[in-house]
Amino acid sequence: SGKSFFVDLTKCTACRGCQVACKQWKQLPAEKTRQLGSHQNPPDLSYTTIRLVRFTESGDGDDFSWLFFPEQCRHCVDAPCKMAAESSGNGDAILQDADTGAVIYTDKTSELDFDFIRSSCPYDIPRQDAATKRISKCDMCIDRVRGGMLPACVKSCPTGTMNFGDREEMLHLAGTRLAEVQKAKPKAKLVDMEQVRVIYLAAMEPKTYYKFMADAGGPRMYTRFAALNKFLGPLR
Ligand code: SF4
Ligand code: SF4
Ligand code: SF4
Repeated sequence: SGKSFFVDLTKCTACRGCQVACKQWKQLPAEKTRQLGSHQNPPDLSYTTIRLVRFTESGDGDDFSWLFFPEQCRHCVDAPCKMAAESSGNGDAILQDADTGAVIYTDKTSELDFDFIRSSCPYDIPRQDAATKRISKCDMCIDRVRGGMLPACVKSCPTGTMNFGDREEMLHLAGTRLAEVQKAKPKAKLVDMEQVRVIYLAAMEPKTYYKFMADAGGPRMYTRFAALNKFLGPLR
């Protein structure tokens, strides 16, 4: 239950409408960027860029194409970043909304060990403000969703790439669309569908789009802390 996004990457044209809408709704300042020889702008997520359309070149010659990946926090069903905050004795810093499942960072994230929190995220999402030490990421536009509106990025998307609704409905839509896409692209898949609330339909291997698109599944710090907690109880 709760809410989920379904992001159909086969429809994304990299118009960046969602990235702009996110900044506008969140009133986040634009970043001064240099031309870096890529269409991707700015070059990475940051404290003030919590949604980023990534561009990657794929193939060569006649086979050449651009891959577009609008990136945001996945709102993990069992969020490793939240587990990491809890295991370091600061369970109030990262909350999970009971109705939607949104993972929400509070001002108390300034008290967390940023490197630990960032390394706990399978998708390398959290970013810190150098001045206040607060950590930020997408909050599912929880204020809009509570008011019965769509997240700003979904509302602004003109191509049908971004979808949002009840999780069952999104899982159904994702499954239907996967079957259609697989007729032409048999390698298409739904990335980490069971563990996240932002479900990407990728036509190619996820790491072709971006190295952290899918959870690589390696050992991570939070796993050690979570295992310790099982034996010792929260480390307070
Ligand atoms: Fe892609 Fe939609 Fe974002 Fe445009 S608004 S970049 S089509 S996800
Ligand atoms: Fe936390 Fe990363 Fe999952 Fe977002 S994607 S909920 S930041 S672990
Ligand atoms: Fe930005 Fe809201 Fe979309 Fe998250 S849900 S990426 S905060 S517009």
